[in-house]
Amino acid sequence: MINYLYLRDFIDTSKQNYDFIKIFSIGKTVLGNELYCFKFGNGKKEILYTAGIHANEWITSLLLIKFIQNLCNSYSSKEKIYGYDPDYLYNNCSLYIIPMLNPDGINLVANFYKKNSEVYISTNNISKAFPLLKFPSSWKSNINGVDLNSQFPANWDLCKKIKSNLGFNKPAPRDFAGSYPLSEPEAKSLYEFSLIKNFSLCICFHSQGEVIYWKYIDNLPENSLEIAKEFAHVSGYELADTPYNSSFGGFRDWFIQNFNKPAFTIEVGKGVNPLPLDQFNKIYHDNLGILVLGCLIGT
Ligand SMILES: [Zn+2]
Repeated sequence: MINYLYLRDFIDTSKQNYDFIKIFSIGKTVLGNELYCFKFGNGKKEILYTAGIHANEWITSLLLIKFIQNLCNSYSSKEKIYGYDPDYLYNNCSLYIIPMLNPDGINLVANFYKKNSEVYISTNNISKAFPLLKFPSSWKSNINGVDLNSQFPANWDLCKKIKSNLGFNKPAPRDFAGSYPLSEPEAKSLYEFSLIKNFSLCICFHSQGEVIYWKYIDNLPENSLEIAKEFAHVSGYELADTPYNSSFGGFRDWFIQNFNKPAFTIEVGKGVNPLPLDQFNKIYHDNLGILVLGCLIGT
């Protein structure tokens, strides 16, 4: 299991070992942790990968951290990655990777907070209203009990209504859309960062299911089906339509609606979240092709 300190340690070693990448923060969480972003490459085409927006899906954060590490090692050693020349990747794109969008929540799932701490007590109290959801392993939300991926202005009212009808009408371990769109600093930071960039493609990593969601309602950005098919081919994952109850208010939904550019949700691994670490090697192996090809396709 990883937590925010693991990411901080990785950043420290990355700064020592990889002087060719940029590391910066796009904003802060409720608890004041940084939302770190890594930039690899200096090409014109800007690409975005995100992970760890849902707390108990922290294995996706590890996936992107390991990818950054292997990509940087490949660039340093000039050895190919997934058959591609790392110099070519570096010159062809500017890849922005945000591996941990919900570090406060990930720390909760990783049992980082002491049982007598304010954070533990308040989240445990939120959780008590949802006895079917095991605490803290079922926690997906940010530390305020808001689902960060139900916060974006893409049919947010409908998202709010669907989630409320399911019983998530107040702070909850999952699926509470908040009081208004972008009420949470993590969601607002990602939104504002996306607006100042010019991303031509976005991949959002979640767990689980081994499926790829590629549409938003009937919005079909150019080439999105072709790219989705290629991702399915290299990963062995299946293309799927987003379940109706999760179809609105997500970051990817807003990204497609607002920019009309291809954006994908990759649901990695299979089982009950948080997925066990022993799935990690397979998850990495299955997704490496997507991670490398994502830098190369898109206009
Ligand atoms: Zn998720």
